[in-house]
Amino acid sequence: MYTLPQAIADLIDRGAVFYVSHSAGKDSQAMYARLQDVLPADRLVVVHADLGWVEWPGIQKHIRDNVRHPVHIVRAAKTFLGMVESRGMWPSSSCRQCTSDLKRDPIMKFIRADLKARGASIAVNCTGIRAAESKARAKKQALTVNKRETVDGRVKRTVYDWLPIFDLSTEEVFREIEAAGQKPFWTYERNERLSCVFCIMGSLNDLRHGAEKNPKLYKTYVELEKQIGHTMFQKGGQPVGLEAYTGISC
Ligand code: SF4
Repeated sequence: MYTLPQAIADLIDRGAVFYVSHSAGKDSQAMYARLQDVLPADRLVVVHADLGWVEWPGIQKHIRDNVRHPVHIVRAAKTFLGMVESRGMWPSSSCRQCTSDLKRDPIMKFIRADLKARGASIAVNCTGIRAAESKARAKKQALTVNKRETVDGRVKRTVYDWLPIFDLSTEEVFREIEAAGQKPFWTYERNERLSCVFCIMGSLNDLRHGAEKNPKLYKTYVELEKQIGHTMFQKGGQPVGLEAYTGISC
């Protein structure tokens, strides 16, 4: 069984509530598997930010099938495609408005409300980010105070960001899932990552798989690119349409 870091054991003693952000991806699944038996059951809360049509069908069922806790679904007021249309541009890796507006903010809104309803004041926002994913991610700390969400006024709230599987390699993530007697979401048979079907940072392999299995959604992305005159991707510093990028025509 996973041994909690002392700093986390101390937070448990102080009454912290742990919010496990679950995307249905392998990292979320391994994180939950690691935490399910070592956190107080009534203070482990599973949250999924629903992105609607742009998600792979079946991921919410996959989450429910692999956790013992209720799954709290949160949604932003806007949709991914509506956001792109109104901005007239796609998000990018340097400006991930999709992540902040459609995932982070609704999850934080839920955390604030749930914490208040419980009469608790310490939240730990758990995400499945790993050092091995990128150089930028490797520079992160596994446990930090979230200054944006922490308040010290009449209402007191301390929010921590914790990365419980920060140290795991990709192979160890899959082993953690297997050790829990589970399987990752079916798309991993072909995909490298599980994200939106067409992620702005998706690999060619994952985009092609997404287009094959979700042709209607693919066509919508292709048409939206043409409508707003902005492409999701560039090649050699030049904009390139999704059809040319993937080699798949609608
Ligand atoms: S999966 Fe990709 S496109 Fe979807 S919200 Fe995250 S970064 Fe944006």
